[in-house]
Amino acid sequence: MVVPSLERWVSSRVALIGDSAHAMSPHITAGASLGVEDVGVLRGKLSPDADLTTALKEYEADRLITRWTIVKAAPSDGYQGVYQVAQARAAQEQ
Ligand SMILES: Cc1cc2nc3c(=O)[nH]c(=O)nc-3n(C[C@H](O)[C@H](O)[C@H](O)COP(=O)(O)OP(=O)(O)OC[C@H]3O[C@@H](n4cnc5c(N)ncnc54)[C@H](O)[C@@H]3O)c2cc1C
Repeated sequence: MVVPSLERWVSSRVALIGDSAHAMSPHITAGASLGVEDVGVLRGKLSPDADLTTALKEYEADRLITRWTIVKAAPSDGYQGVYQVAQARAAQEQ
């Protein structure tokens, strides 16, 4: 399964979090946890005296690296493996 990746998650005062920023193949089993982490990182950047534009850019830079690290570390054939198991089971049931 190929999930298109975004190179930018922030535009001016708007930031994407969770799957809106980094949807990925379910076989990686990390989308929900990454989304929760996004919130924690963003919260850490948004101190009362922070400049919003800078804070959002820092959030984006941090999280883009994490997202790429996880996707690169995931087995690239994981989704195909799940699909093959499902196909084999479907064939047995016919
Ligand atoms: C089969 C499968 C297995 C998975 N297994 C794992 C796992 O083991 N571990 C893991 O970490 N992750 C897993 N994931 C990924 C995880 O489910 C997602 O990464 C996570 O749910 C994303 O959360 P989110 O809040 O960003 O987006 P979503 O869960 O998609 O939430 C977005 C919400 O916004 C709502 N919405 C959309 N448009 C609008 C609108 N215009 N107005 C108002 N509301 C709107 C939607 O109805 C939805 O409720 C799996 C995913 C799949 C499909």
